[in-house]
Amino acid sequence: MRKFIRQTKIIATIGPATESEEDLIQLISEGVDVLRLNMAHADHDWIRMITERSRKVGKQLDREPAIMMDVKGPEIRTGYLHQELEIKESDLLDLVFVAQPNPPSIDGIWQIEVNYDKLPDHINEGDTVLLDNGLIQLKVINSSKEKIRCQVQGDATLKSRRHVNLPGIETGLPSLTEKDRRDSLVGIECNHDFFALSFTRDADAVDLFRSFLKDNGSDAQIIAKLEDQKGVANIDEIIQSADALMVARGDLGIECPFEELPIIQRKAVGSSLSAGKPVIVATHMLESMIDSPVPTRAEISDVANAVNEGADCIMLSGETTTGKYPHECIQLLNKIASRMEDEIQPGLTENLKLFRPKAKMLRSAAMLAMRLENSAVLVFTRSGDLAAKLGALRPNGAPLFAFTDVEGLHRRLRLIWGIEPFLMDFSQDPEITIQNAIRLLSEGPWIDNGDQLVIVTNAFAHDKVVESIQLRVIEL
Ligand code: PGA
Ligand code: MN
Repeated sequence: MRKFIRQTKIIATIGPATESEEDLIQLISEGVDVLRLNMAHADHDWIRMITERSRKVGKQLDREPAIMMDVKGPEIRTGYLHQELEIKESDLLDLVFVAQPNPPSIDGIWQIEVNYDKLPDHINEGDTVLLDNGLIQLKVINSSKEKIRCQVQGDATLKSRRHVNLPGIETGLPSLTEKDRRDSLVGIECNHDFFALSFTRDADAVDLFRSFLKDNGSDAQIIAKLEDQKGVANIDEIIQSADALMVARGDLGIECPFEELPIIQRKAVGSSLSAGKPVIVATHMLESMIDSPVPTRAEISDVANAVNEGADCIMLSGETTTGKYPHECIQLLNKIASRMEDEIQPGLTENLKLFRPKAKMLRSAAMLAMRLENSAVLVFTRSGDLAAKLGALRPNGAPLFAFTDVEGLHRRLRLIWGIEPFLMDFSQDPEITIQNAIRLLSEGPWIDNGDQLVIVTNAFAHDKVVESIQLRVIEL
């Protein structure tokens, strides 16, 4: 039995550093499972081009990655500046809602445009406003319909079009913007496998997005991005309504007190595991490798920690979009994840709730495969649920093969910890389906003579169909 290099999955965001055909071939060969396209930066023609290219390359390599469109969601930004501004501690700064002169200053008070004119309705004296990913801190002095007057809390350089974060403040922005709708329609046209919904604040946001996808003919899965305090407060209902969760640490680390971040991450991973939903740990995993060929020691430990906590996926952003060392990053994740997984004590997720009888049988199947030498679990799935639950049990070290006859699901299953998916026709006769699956595995590098497959399947008992766990020794 060939042991998988790692059971934790890898998501790489695609950008100028990785968009060429050669780079995509290399990424997929290095084992990237999901390609992420970030709508904060991408335009529609590029999305169409990169989707086609990735799908073509995936088919050639017989290893089709899933594609995730990351929609921006409600986002506030500062306006365009002709040049960078050197702002100083205790300067006064007005946040305003119309374009400003150059330089943007009146009577010595900075005039900075932001793109959301309802902001004053949600802001109070004493609130904190953060610009440029928290680099610039502003304290609100007073607020009127036309402007929010703030005091700058430290010397800083303000550049064009910077992120605005408002920790703990409900902004009243819609969860799905007009731009999100336009972008998603292109994702639907391209048959993207996942949509990541930025700043998911509650289950309603997920439900609304799901209706939008359905109304436009898509059954793609939704990944809720946990990025602010409201999302953290509603995490359980969000996990229930979404298909997967992303711990989006970039924004989360600004919107929440930063010492809470590791705690939120650990709880989010644990709750997702108990619910049997995939969970992604994202952002800054190998941030220093955007410019450096080696990671910091802290980054190595952070990646290992996410693996140890039980994340399904670890994700790269800037490291693979504009970084100088995208392939080195993937190879490093392979190494760190694989080494850490070796250290994890075998044992199955205790709190995972399994409802259907067939899902309950998975626990025994997974246990059996972990106890036997050279053994793997094999499941057949049309909804993906059995594979999701099998992965959520985290049978360390046991290869997990999932077969489906649903085009597209074979890509989506790549998000799930430990699952190696295959697309194959199912026969009416379960025995023929099993034989076909074993043949497919033996044609690839997956199984050898003498390996033992633990198969969860339907079987005929005279004229009845019964659920069964079977143990088959491979004789090729
Ligand atoms: P972003 O989301 O990269 O789209 O901002 C991820 C994060 O905030 O961590
Ligand atoms: Mn974000």
